[in-house]
Amino acid sequence: MDPLQITTSEVDVVVLGSGAAGLVAALAARESGATVALFEKAELIGGSTAISGGVCWVPMNHHMDEAGAPDSREAALAYLRSLSLGQMNPALAEAFIGGARETVEWLESVTDLKFTLIPGYPDYHPEHPGGRPSGGRSLDPGLFSYERLGPWAAKVAKSRRSARLRITDTTLGGGTGFLDDETLAHREQHDLRGCGAALVGPLLAALLRAGVEPVLEARATDLINEDGRVCGVRLVIGAAEGPQHAHLARARHGVIIATGGFEWNPQLVSTFLRGPMTAPASVPSNEGDGLLMALRAGAALANMPQAWWAPTVSVPGDEAFGRPRATLLNRERTLPGSIMVNSAGLRFANEAANYNALGGAFHTLDPVEFGYRNLPCWLIFDGRNARDFGSFGTPAGTPIAPWITRATTIPELAGALGIDVDGLSGTVARWNSFVDAGDDADFGRGRSAYDRWSGDGRHRGEVASTLGRLDEAPFFAVPVYSGTLGTSGGPRTDVDGRVLDPVGVAIPGLFAVGNAAAAPTALAYGGAGGTLGPIIVFGRAAGLAAARSGAERPAVARTVD
Ligand SMILES: Cc1cc2nc3c(=O)[nH]c(=O)nc-3n(C[C@H](O)[C@H](O)[C@H](O)COP(=O)(O)OP(=O)(O)OC[C@H]3O[C@@H](n4cnc5c(N)ncnc54)[C@H](O)[C@@H]3O)c2cc1C
Repeated sequence: MDPLQITTSEVDVVVLGSGAAGLVAALAARESGATVALFEKAELIGGSTAISGGVCWVPMNHHMDEAGAPDSREAALAYLRSLSLGQMNPALAEAFIGGARETVEWLESVTDLKFTLIPGYPDYHPEHPGGRPSGGRSLDPGLFSYERLGPWAAKVAKSRRSARLRITDTTLGGGTGFLDDETLAHREQHDLRGCGAALVGPLLAALLRAGVEPVLEARATDLINEDGRVCGVRLVIGAAEGPQHAHLARARHGVIIATGGFEWNPQLVSTFLRGPMTAPASVPSNEGDGLLMALRAGAALANMPQAWWAPTVSVPGDEAFGRPRATLLNRERTLPGSIMVNSAGLRFANEAANYNALGGAFHTLDPVEFGYRNLPCWLIFDGRNARDFGSFGTPAGTPIAPWITRATTIPELAGALGIDVDGLSGTVARWNSFVDAGDDADFGRGRSAYDRWSGDGRHRGEVASTLGRLDEAPFFAVPVYSGTLGTSGGPRTDVDGRVLDPVGVAIPGLFAVGNAAAAPTALAYGGAGGTLGPIIVFGRAAGLAAARSGAERPAVARTVD
């Protein structure tokens, strides 16, 4: 870095990070008249949001009314409360439900976003009080033509797997995961992108129309604090391997930290998370920079042991920003003819449960062995499963990729992987007996409406969608890791995203939102879109509050719990 070159800028609101949290906050601040600067550390815009499914879980959204299946505040709150485990701040949960519908309506009015319901997609715990077995709260951002972004189209992060798919084209959203040649050619011709890219695209387009151009390769490092108020941020601008210079961005009204989680910072991970997490699926630029800045500014923390957990696999070629990145293990573990086992060869959970809840199984400590009982772990599947469904990006009927371990018998597979041979043989026999009986007596796989959603689409809604014998050679195995979509702990905030100090007083001028902040729903992952739903709601609230911030010093938080 050139130590002599320092550039400066001054606006009303400075936003750090260009995922959904940063883009929505920036747009809300700009829409309410503030001047805004948006700084992004990576060379591409969009963070994990751009490579995500882009689904937003929004209770009481107006599309549910239009579909004739309206939601209620009481049901949504009861549902979140049932998932709280005593960790959720009721004021934040109420603010989320209270602002949810309005946020979607606002986004659809100020951007080109047009959400649609994902027909039938159940909540993740649909049998809990207030849960929705037939869905409605999970919204698909659809498709967005990147032609509308001109040269900015090339500056948005892209998912190798889902770039051209709507969520409803994916197996998670009820589709096959593949497009016919004609549809694919049409989408390529018009640069139509779906999933997370369809969320980021319209937000970016609206920001550009409003005159806010994100500054890329701009890493925020320190907050500037004057007279007890955060009034700007120091950044390093330029690619790590190229010329860099220092920048001082002053913020008349406030700084919004939207820098994502800390899952790529090994020291923060081992300090805070409740158990092993070795394979994040998010963008590698999420290294907890915002958390460190907020800590130095005196922020209180909440939800720190938690993350949006997910079993992940390591698929060759999956990467983000030039670094390998894990792939979510969502579909394969729910399909008939597949189970997950630990090194004793034992199943340990309902494999078709939602990823966030399933992640908890990796943190089970064996008190005698004093080790994590379910790590390492493998997905095991048979030849019929492979033939009928393909695997990890290979379509049905095509050869299974050579990186996947195969064997002609179950004992041979166990031996090759160091899994207890008798344990695995017994587990497979037991599993097959459960399949024959139509009920998983050990873990209840297939009993929830959610389990019967994402497996074999030919049997959607039936136990056969997820229960199937594992008995046809060859047999396959893939190691599964404890991963995450992103961490969910961080600075405590009030309902407007103001960062609170340890006695609950807002730190003047400082806001945090998205995975950079403590999740407003704490442990609760309500349904598909359970992270992005709250993010758009609180992103908007933080942007509006930052735009009008400045008069209060210091402000007393609106949330006291
Ligand atoms: C494969 C995958 C699929 C997913 N699907 C869904 C889904 O369908 N629905 C859902 O609700 N959730 C989903 N998630 C989770 C969801 O993507 C994240 O929770 C969400 O995108 C987080 O948004 P964010 O804005 O807080 O962070 P991000 O989108 O990660 O953005 C943070 C940004 O901040 C930047 N940054 C970091 N440090 C600095 C710094 N010092 N200065 C400036 N910028 C900085 C980062 O580079 C990044 O661009 C998925 C996640 C993954 C990985």
